[in-house]
Amino acid sequence: MFNSLSDRLTATFKNLRGKGRLSEADVDATIREIRRALLDADVALPVVRAFTGRIRDRALSEEVSGALNPGQQVVKVVNDELVGILGGETRRLNYAKRPPTVIMLAGLQGAGKTTLAGKLAYWLKSEGHRPMLVAADLQRPNAVNQLEIVGERAGAFVYAPEPGNGVGDPVQVATDSLEVAKSKLHDVVIVDTAGRLGIDEELMAQAADIRTAVNPDEVLFVIDAMIGQDAVKTAQAFLEGVDFTGVVLSKLDGDSRGGAALSVAEVTGKPIMFASTGESMKEFEQFHPDRMADRILD
Ligand code: GDP
Repeated sequence: MFNSLSDRLTATFKNLRGKGRLSEADVDATIREIRRALLDADVALPVVRAFTGRIRDRALSEEVSGALNPGQQVVKVVNDELVGILGGETRRLNYAKRPPTVIMLAGLQGAGKTTLAGKLAYWLKSEGHRPMLVAADLQRPNAVNQLEIVGERAGAFVYAPEPGNGVGDPVQVATDSLEVAKSKLHDVVIVDTAGRLGIDEELMAQAADIRTAVNPDEVLFVIDAMIGQDAVKTAQAFLEGVDFTGVVLSKLDGDSRGGAALSVAEVTGKPIMFASTGESMKEFEQFHPDRMADRILD
């Protein structure tokens, strides 16, 4: 992930190194290269435009500060702006003042929600919490089963409708789970919801109903980093249909070009909070925009 983008940007900056003064033409040539590199990495066009516009303005107007030469100054501006489009400050989980904290997961089918539910539980346990998983994805016959497997791997209790009762009502399951959490002293409840293969009104309505019923402290929109340009459209649909408080990028271990990561936070105005980087429970990390920017410009 980001390898090609990172190589392209590094090569671009190499040309600037050692220049005593940067002319407007130098800056423009650099901006053109950055623009091409971002587009090739599948970053959404409006994001590319806004990003390169800000870099150009700052590169031409800011005083060169202290020990930096003009080339280094441009790299610094690009770094600052990358941190900005990745969400700025690290955004940590928002816990309820009175437990349980409720975290709802939303996203398309296959985005990685169920896997993430397990990873979050595993990580929360390591932070001293007693998480509980809730199977409110009753759309696919196998979804409850899959969450139970994930719960076992994470060592977390799973609340699910009894098998054999027909298809349960996901809103009811999610609502009931809060009482179960209180009685069993679970301080964090992670609600896994159904996804579809595409954006679908019924799916959005169901997720919105669950949201209304459980009044979550966080709604995490899980998105597969591999979906490239479709990321923006999908994120906007979930923002309008369900609304969310943060983004989780999954499958960052794949050979995604990074466009989704660079577009979604900027377009939705919501921070990327976690990254999922594999199929095992441990392959999960808090997302730090500054470290990700460093990795890109390494
Ligand atoms: P859901 O439909 O949104 O609940 O998605 P799942 O959690 O079932 O994930 C869909 C597929 O992606 C499964 O085969 C997971 O093992 C896989 N998966 C989930 N997260 C990751 C990840 O971070 N990296 C990789 N390589 N695979 C993942």
